[in-house]
Amino acid sequence: MIDVIPIPAFKDNYIWVLINKTTNQCIGVDPGDATPLLDFLAQHQLTLSAIFITHHHPDHIGGIATILKDHQVPVYGPRKENISFCTHPLIENDMVSIQSWPVEFLIKEVPGHTLGHIFFYSKPWLFCGDTLFSIGCGRLFEGSPEQMYSSLKKITELPDETQIYCTHEYTLNNIKFAQKVDPNNENLNQYQHHCQILRAKNLPTLPSNLALEKACNPFLRCTNALIKKTVEDYCHQKFDTSVQIFAALRAWKDKF
Ligand code: ZN
Ligand code: FE
Repeated sequence: MIDVIPIPAFKDNYIWVLINKTTNQCIGVDPGDATPLLDFLAQHQLTLSAIFITHHHPDHIGGIATILKDHQVPVYGPRKENISFCTHPLIENDMVSIQSWPVEFLIKEVPGHTLGHIFFYSKPWLFCGDTLFSIGCGRLFEGSPEQMYSSLKKITELPDETQIYCTHEYTLNNIKFAQKVDPNNENLNQYQHHCQILRAKNLPTLPSNLALEKACNPFLRCTNALIKKTVEDYCHQKFDTSVQIFAALRAWKDKF
């Protein structure tokens, strides 16, 4: 039996921890800060089995050096990013299995936010770092809109039941932008209400799920006629392709 638990870090990050309740072992995903994870391990008497890294940003890898001092565990991360702690560099379609864990993880390369960004997928869990957020997507710090668009497409090809474990609690802000772009989306309004209740209790809005994201996340809905029109009106320009809509939407969100 495996649980997935969020440990809040910094202002709005989550370090996701997979816990194997049979063995009291765990895997930490994107530990940007060591203290919250180390405290959690001690408090729950868990043994760390491995660290997963989605991309090289400090808020995802900053805790690793300190964690490794006391826990000599393998570190799985993207081969295309130069991360010195990484003992197991990964590329597209690699399968990761961890000793004594009954699950395997499929790796996909999802460039856009950074050029080497990867995700870890084991049905139904998706650890997608800063590629897809609930009702949003990562900023294009290194990649092109074309790259990010096809990375998001790789995510939408997963089953609808996929649970989205992204790294930031940005949902309510993302919803505000989405409502501008997609004003008549009743699912979105319902989701906002749901998330407001969670945040008022200081609970995470995550994980999200892919079916909901497909229905509400404007970055996955660039072929929607109403969204296309809203973006074109905002830009005073017509667009021929959904990648162009995506690029304009991402640029709009950057300024929102
Ligand atoms: Zn990042
Ligand atoms: Fe981040």
